[in-house]
Amino acid sequence: MSAVCLIPLGVGEAFAARHYTTCLALGVDDDWLLIECPHPIRKMLREATTAAGRPFDLDRVRGVAVSHLHADHACGLEDFGFYSYFALGRRATVLAHPDVSARLWDGLLAAGMDTTRVGPGTPPIARRLDDYFDVISLCKTSPVVFGPFAVECRPTFHPIPTTAFRIRVAGRTVGFSADTAFDPALIDWLDAADLIVHEATTNDLTGVHTPYSRLATLPESLRRKMRLIHYPDGFEDEPRAIEPLHQGRCYEV
Ligand SMILES: [Zn+2]
Repeated sequence: MSAVCLIPLGVGEAFAARHYTTCLALGVDDDWLLIECPHPIRKMLREATTAAGRPFDLDRVRGVAVSHLHADHACGLEDFGFYSYFALGRRATVLAHPDVSARLWDGLLAAGMDTTRVGPGTPPIARRLDDYFDVISLCKTSPVVFGPFAVECRPTFHPIPTTAFRIRVAGRTVGFSADTAFDPALIDWLDAADLIVHEATTNDLTGVHTPYSRLATLPESLRRKMRLIHYPDGFEDEPRAIEPLHQGRCYEV
């Protein structure tokens, strides 16, 4: 069976100056799913996949699973939608729970995307979400099959609707915490995965993220298959009880 590869495109928290913000590419063979979609997504994809020795562009991305609409996770969706529409001649696919996608258009994308023109002086053309995007609804109770991927979601503790993911592909499962306060029940749910990607912070100013100190007390069996993302600048410079992910590496799941 082909190896399942996870390439971090961005590993930083929202205020990171050293790294791009949270984004991952999960793939098998030549079939890729993005987890999160910050800006500048195409540049992030190029840099990370080239560094990982598996270079590819947005044309090879089957879709994007989005956990929530905070900008550090979702502000590249306009680029993804426009690039798909104008450069690739197709719609972009977004997978999200309906609670997450409810305000995708009116709350995030419409201001930049609801009008196009074909040239100077031509009348505006009104556009809608489904001119650019296919939105696939994820479900809290059963996996949604999307090509070789089967995607499950679970709500997390965060100020706006947010879901974690378990994504199964080619017999392997990746768990992704998304943004969340520390939640042992969520970690139990993620424990079914072969590899867990969990957010971590050391300087939470907002109270809606997971302190690294809490994760560091988890059993060794869990920490061994857990990797950290969404971390502050400098976090990776010190020894950690759980390994931080690095941009541009291919992690075999
Ligand atoms: Zn967030």
